[in-house]
Amino acid sequence: MRRLIYAAVIPLLLLIQVSFCSDHIELPTAGWTISKSSQAKIDANAIIKAAFSSSSVYKRLAYMTDTYGPRLSGSSALERALDWVKEEMEKDGLKVQEEKVKVPCWVRGHEYATLLSPRVKSLRMVGLGGSVGTPNGKPLVAKVLVVSSFEDLKKREIEAKGKIVVFNVPFQNYGTTVNYRYSGPEAAEKEGAVAALVRSISPFGLQTVHTGEMGTAGIPSAAVSLEDAEMFARMQARGQEVVIELYMEAHTLPDQLSRNLILEIEGSEKPNEIVVFGGHMDSWDIADGAMDDGGGAMVSWEVIRVLHNLKLTPKRTLRAVLFVNEENGAKGAQQYFQDHEHELNLTSIAIETDEGTFTPYGISFQGSKAARAILNDIGMGLLSTIGAGNVTGSGVGTDIAYVCDQGVPCGNLLVLDPRIGNLSNNPCNGFSHPPYPEADPLKSAYFWYHHTEADTVDKLSPQQLQHCAAALGVWTYSIANLNSLLPR
Ligand SMILES: [Zn+2]
Repeated sequence: MRRLIYAAVIPLLLLIQVSFCSDHIELPTAGWTISKSSQAKIDANAIIKAAFSSSSVYKRLAYMTDTYGPRLSGSSALERALDWVKEEMEKDGLKVQEEKVKVPCWVRGHEYATLLSPRVKSLRMVGLGGSVGTPNGKPLVAKVLVVSSFEDLKKREIEAKGKIVVFNVPFQNYGTTVNYRYSGPEAAEKEGAVAALVRSISPFGLQTVHTGEMGTAGIPSAAVSLEDAEMFARMQARGQEVVIELYMEAHTLPDQLSRNLILEIEGSEKPNEIVVFGGHMDSWDIADGAMDDGGGAMVSWEVIRVLHNLKLTPKRTLRAVLFVNEENGAKGAQQYFQDHEHELNLTSIAIETDEGTFTPYGISFQGSKAARAILNDIGMGLLSTIGAGNVTGSGVGTDIAYVCDQGVPCGNLLVLDPRIGNLSNNPCNGFSHPPYPEADPLKSAYFWYHHTEADTVDKLSPQQLQHCAAALGVWTYSIANLNSLLPR
């Protein structure tokens, strides 16, 4: 997830005590368009009420992640999960389109790392996606060089030859620090290292190890825990010789055929014009992928299900895409772009949900000022009652990046830190946000679980998923119902 990280500061959410069920909505004084339509409010409130009345999103996410588990591209688990989702969608009375996608097939195999000196310790480790295995199918034993940055590696290039280079780089934010996972192995290989170990890309750990995609490198590469990376650094600083045995069977098989799943509600007036939104079905092979991004896929589906049941048809077509291969190749995103390039000038907006489906507070937006003003109107008029009407930052997720690069207005659903827990009681019974305690989304606890075995459904609540479906439903429906496409 997260090709670009939004440079937003979460606006401190003021204590809001508004019920969408009451008539009282605070209106801004200028630039108002949406709230003038009482029908828009009636529709939005109907979507919110329907989304908060159903427990199907959480149940489905829990069933899928419990039953099929990790869903890496090329795995049979992903294909079985896609089959199940498609069947369930059809049971909802929805028509599902499948668009074929050729996806890479990387296989982890058995792997381990053991500290041999100055003491023997079995290390928590996880190979990075796309890594090669250790040479000749055998364990590799080498001394360790710990570096704190690319610059530090450059300074110590002579020492790196023949060593296992450990990048012990503390988490600043995902967008910055992930460079070490992606480019560290290649940089180490250039200096003659025999393997690369990267401190897990996370602000916090309990010996948790985080996988993720790496760039092209011909040496075996893996992530270790924050704690062990720090320990190696301490050992090196006091002059102790650090030696590790590393074994990895990782390898890449030929590409496999998979598919994006697409659901639509055809527009009543301008069916050729589109609002597209989605999340991804694939996950890393060690993660159940509830947060990243089963929730985003399930919520996108839920929006279509809710609107279908309400018989709400916007002027333009609403299209939910459940992408594959976001994690290691973005082939699903590329295929969507290729198959739908002819529609880009008719696409009003593309919205991705891939930052966890926790309590939503708005959308990020990349596009014109004029479009942003319209979105602000929608947010304030129709979504402030559930605290999800902010328009802030400019983030664009991987699955929509190809479309956004061609000038289509784009956004991501923005969510609060998972540690905030469940704020979303049924809004009819009153609704409130406390002030946001952690104003830095880049240090979100999302990254405690991201690409780990701990990305499981218990990190989410049914109410958070309902809340996301309500927010995304109102955003997409309202944009699809505007008098014109969002201005470029
Ligand atoms: Zn993701």
